[in-house]
Amino acid sequence: MTFDLLITNATIVNADGAVRASIGIEDGTVTALLAPDAVVPDAVRTIDANGLVAIPGGVDGHCHAEQTTGAYRSLDTYASTTSAALRGGTTTIIDFGIPDGTGQTPIEALERKIHLVSENGARCDVALHGSVITWDDSTSAQLERMAELGVHSVKMYTTNRGSTMSDDDTIVRVLHEMVRLDGLAYIHAEHDGIIHDRTTACADRGAIGIEHLHESRPEISEDASVREILAVAEYTGAPVYFVHQSTPAAVDAVAEARGRGLNAFSEVCPHYLLHDESVYSGLAPEKFACCPPFRSSSDVAGLRARVNRGLVDTLSSDHTSYDLAQKREHSDDVRHMPHGLPGAGTRMPAGYTAMVVEEGLPIEDFVALFSANPARVNGLHRKGAVAVGNDADIVLFDPEERRVVRASDLHQDSDFSPFDGMELAGWPRYVVSGGHVVVDAGEFADPGPVGRYIGQAPFSERPGITRPASVVARHAVSA
Ligand SMILES: [Zn+2]
Repeated sequence: MTFDLLITNATIVNADGAVRASIGIEDGTVTALLAPDAVVPDAVRTIDANGLVAIPGGVDGHCHAEQTTGAYRSLDTYASTTSAALRGGTTTIIDFGIPDGTGQTPIEALERKIHLVSENGARCDVALHGSVITWDDSTSAQLERMAELGVHSVKMYTTNRGSTMSDDDTIVRVLHEMVRLDGLAYIHAEHDGIIHDRTTACADRGAIGIEHLHESRPEISEDASVREILAVAEYTGAPVYFVHQSTPAAVDAVAEARGRGLNAFSEVCPHYLLHDESVYSGLAPEKFACCPPFRSSSDVAGLRARVNRGLVDTLSSDHTSYDLAQKREHSDDVRHMPHGLPGAGTRMPAGYTAMVVEEGLPIEDFVALFSANPARVNGLHRKGAVAVGNDADIVLFDPEERRVVRASDLHQDSDFSPFDGMELAGWPRYVVSGGHVVVDAGEFADPGPVGRYIGQAPFSERPGITRPASVVARHAVSA
């Protein structure tokens, strides 16, 4: 037998534990895990992973590519965003088909994105979430068509009135449909009435520039909206997933709901773990224009504690590639800025540094957040673990290696990173994606347009979220 690729002397860390083995890869699939003392088989290429940790390639469940937000269009293509993701150890992204505000229907938005994955040369595998803004007579049939295409998750926003916001009737109906069609609702939860009231008050006193973003969207707006949606989820029986949770109270609300038996999931993003609202009084506050905004330092500490206790399911980038010129065009009025931060390439080092290096989270638990849980929650069966039969998506890294973040190194189609100048650990040395070595001794090796559109399994066919034993044990100790 001759493998296409053999990774020897690997310390493999999956979400359920660590093992030393050699990894054999054929036709883009892991076909063998060999004991360390086994005879070394033939391979076209062998990588010696001595001293490196091997984890499953990252699955970024929330990554915007080729995104339109109001008057703004992000600066990327599928080719560039997937390349940036690969450089940062992410081998699968899940993007969104969001109607662009020009009369596009949800199914048109989704089918266009599926087409663009190949048309615009994705470098890694891409799955998609659908999105519904306003319910009409055709929505049921459109959701059925999405399910046929392997899209069993639908995103809705409780804020952004006049653009992507869904009203209560739409949210209730779509959640009923998620039960009927065996899907999962993705929710951006911020209470629009509170935000509108506070934003108007800020504008009235002349405090509506980017340095006031956090004042215009208070914590309670997120907590209130999460609780409302959880009530709708309980009423309909639909599973719900909350994107980019930024407050401890919002995470606690989801954990409580799970305790009552709801299927409810929490996502955090690395930027909410590494920065607090003091960024808005810094030199370049435009680099931190995102919704929800950055929170207080005590919220950041509380959020990290909840990740450490296993209350959070996934770590996603919420990547969007706007540049500083776009951010600065209307930085005197946050209501007209394009929100969203580039982060596809820094999800691994930023999350690893915040949680493993600074909080002592075991690497197994980081793998759960970074890869295993996003794969499971989103129904991507061949992803999220280094295991025989899975796609050969593997990251090798030296836990001791640190680098200073420079936007120009990240190739994220933006001239800034929210982590500019920070020294982070957890950078990939090698990345294997679908069997291709795409980061080779630290250098990007473009595999060409090999990325595929991949469908999700229906919700009921997704295995439960494994809360690693270490988390359960530590939670018991601290309780
Ligand atoms: Zn987003």
